[in-house]
Amino acid sequence: MSFTLHGLAVSQGIAIGHAHLVSHATLEVAHYVLPERFLDEEIERLERALAEVRRELEGLRAAGDAGAPAELLAFIDLHRMLLDDPMLAEPVRALIRERRCNAEWALTQQLEQIVEQFEQFEDEYLRERKADIVQVVERVLKSLMGLPGHPPKHARGENLIIVAHDLSPADTLQFKQLKIGGFVTDLGGATSHTAIVARSLGIPAVVGLHHARELIREDDLVVVDGARGVLIVDPDARVLEEYRLRKSALELERAKLKRLKKARAATLDGVDIELCANIELPGDVTQAKAAGAAGIGLFRTEFLFLGRDGVPHEEEQYAAYRSVAEAMDGRPVVIRTLDIGADKNLRGVERSEANPALGQRAIRYCLAEPQLFLTQLRAILRASHHGRVRLLVPMLAHAHEIEQTLALVEQAKAQLRERGQPFDELIEVGGMIEIPAAALALGVFLKKLDFLSIGTNDLIQYTLAIDRADEAVAHLYDPLHPAVLRLIAHTIHAGTRAGMAVAVCGEMAGDPQLTRLLLGMGLRQFSMHPAQILAVKQEVLRSSLAELRRKVARLLAGDDPLRLRQQLARLNAAQASGVAPN
Ligand code: PEP
Ligand code: MG
Repeated sequence: MSFTLHGLAVSQGIAIGHAHLVSHATLEVAHYVLPERFLDEEIERLERALAEVRRELEGLRAAGDAGAPAELLAFIDLHRMLLDDPMLAEPVRALIRERRCNAEWALTQQLEQIVEQFEQFEDEYLRERKADIVQVVERVLKSLMGLPGHPPKHARGENLIIVAHDLSPADTLQFKQLKIGGFVTDLGGATSHTAIVARSLGIPAVVGLHHARELIREDDLVVVDGARGVLIVDPDARVLEEYRLRKSALELERAKLKRLKKARAATLDGVDIELCANIELPGDVTQAKAAGAAGIGLFRTEFLFLGRDGVPHEEEQYAAYRSVAEAMDGRPVVIRTLDIGADKNLRGVERSEANPALGQRAIRYCLAEPQLFLTQLRAILRASHHGRVRLLVPMLAHAHEIEQTLALVEQAKAQLRERGQPFDELIEVGGMIEIPAAALALGVFLKKLDFLSIGTNDLIQYTLAIDRADEAVAHLYDPLHPAVLRLIAHTIHAGTRAGMAVAVCGEMAGDPQLTRLLLGMGLRQFSMHPAQILAVKQEVLRSSLAELRRKVARLLAGDDPLRLRQQLARLNAAQASGVAPN
């Protein structure tokens, strides 16, 4: 039966394919659909794994009898009980038989269900038993992984639509290798890092669907409309045909944009505009160059730290930063220091803050972990010897944070001098403007730093007090809120007047609907996910700054959101009738 779900449009494009249900944990284990004839064998494999773990636990119990503490023995008993509880194995057998999931995948799905039930217990002791069931399942998984199964028969990557309750940015990053067609999640906001990665991968995605994972079944045919935020399950022939046509039209449009790759990014009145790329990993440079990026305006280095055990050491970081600097061949590369926290966390670092976006994130974390920070600073400085590297610091708000950061940069430089390792002595250090306090008290930034980059994603989050990763407040996330626009305009104006380069590297920079608005505010440097560069360039080529300045000044003076949107629509309509690029 066909039905439609509505969520948040986070990554444009249309994907048509078969649903593949995953949980966070299942991304770590193999997941494939088994041919009917292998089902008995798969259940047999599960039974063998369960028996092996039972034997292991009995062995531990026997060894423990000879003097282990009573608490430990009690835990082993508890684990044996959990292992034998029909609540664990029965539904797993059913998932294998009915949904034809491989055993690891069936087990992790059931684990998710159980964990959810445990989380609802009032009793704290019972709630905490969740950790025990996870440990038991991990033992069984480990055992299963040592027992041969059947590899997936067919790699369906390109047509696979991932359906998940939630995905971390690190999960999304894995899609790069898997060549996923599209993805949808129940949770998530439009500028969550998961959404940002989807956009940079050019994968159509819809988030904030609430019940997608419950309602969709494995292998259902689905259409992801990443522009409208719609998911159509089991579409009828007419709808499917319409989407196939729209998909080809979009592909054609993209192919046309490619002609702009070599065009100079200048306005109709001849002003050059710098269009740079945001990247998450060194490999993204290929896409940035293919889109004709003028440089890397934001390298989100924290992605080197996500989804792995331990943090990358100095040599590994240096190699990564150096490879980007060299690949960009003299073009500027802005390397942002670690922005960990909020929706990006290091594996194994348990965070218990009630409001992680307001907690020890980004520079706050780095200043609290000076050794980790110094290691990264040294690696970035060393890379500066191999290209035009600039260093960018996220989430600054206080003068003392800037001072401490600069002192640590000096310390890192001194360490390298002592080692005799070369770096750019004049490396520029910039600050992100992503907290309203920073935008309103720019003086210290202008005095102490070399450039500014406005992070509109966080600036919006912190100005409007809404968690950018929370779909429940996503409707309040408004880049066009007059307060947001005034903070951006003020930063561009004050920075430029002080002779400082000002860029925007948040998602607003990659939205062609906002290009004219930002140009009219005086912005000359944009940094965005590479997939958007050509669309934004097309808008730049059709714009005349002299005309925009006046109109945007008028737009910024008002407070009425409806009128503001009408003014923006007129601004963009005038652009559409402007001279088209050849
Ligand atoms: C921003 O906040 O706008 C930004 C570019 O940084 P991030 O999205 O990584 O927080
Ligand atoms: Mg930010």
